[in-house]
Amino acid sequence: MESMRRIGLLGGMSWESTALYYRLLNEDVRERLGGFHSARLVMASVDFAEVEALQVAGDWAAAGALLADEARALETAGAECVVLCTNTMHKVADAIEAAVGIPLIHLADVTADAVKAAGLDRVALLGTRFTMEQPFYADRLRSHGVEVLVPEPADLALVHDVIYDELVLGVVRDESREAYVDVVRRLVDRGAGGVVLGCTEIELLIGPDDVDVPVFATTALHARAAVDFALARP
Ligand code: GLU
Repeated sequence: MESMRRIGLLGGMSWESTALYYRLLNEDVRERLGGFHSARLVMASVDFAEVEALQVAGDWAAAGALLADEARALETAGAECVVLCTNTMHKVADAIEAAVGIPLIHLADVTADAVKAAGLDRVALLGTRFTMEQPFYADRLRSHGVEVLVPEPADLALVHDVIYDELVLGVVRDESREAYVDVVRRLVDRGAGGVVLGCTEIELLIGPDDVDVPVFATTALHARAAVDFALARP
């Protein structure tokens, strides 16, 4: 009998961060179990160009249908949970959950738990324009008692543009790191006690050493929650 449940990664959004998930999952399992242990998982990895086009078109129904199909494929392949490797596409989490009989480990729930465990109730949220401006993510955090501050318009545009023009393409620039640090500083001045890196590529750019407040790196938090699930006794 297998000791570990099989994780289902729904990735490719972008593959730059999905690669990080894969590494973090395996490192965590090796750390917890030792020896030659590694994560049991299956992955469905989409063509990000298709998803991005639907985002720009605002066709979230089609995006939800596309990801629901991928989640079904994961379940058929033996996945025992779905880990949707993007904050933004949690906008269609309901469509994915409705398509499968296995749990979706919701990234905003995992993040809210970490924020509260750190004793905070008001944090900055950095992510794509969709994640920062639309209510689906902030409302989910709020439902756990976590208040969210997002950047002012010019900063918000900068944060979004760096994600799509650089990070998802594997480009990591010092200038962008400095610009993000300035954005965080302004959010801290407005009362944020920490910062949620609410886009799975942002932790490729900045980390705890770059800012003076607690950092909630969603890829790392999500990967850890997936390992918790995989190793939990059913
Ligand atoms: N990976 C990003 C996120 O966590 C952005 C890419 C996407 O739009 O899915 O939101």
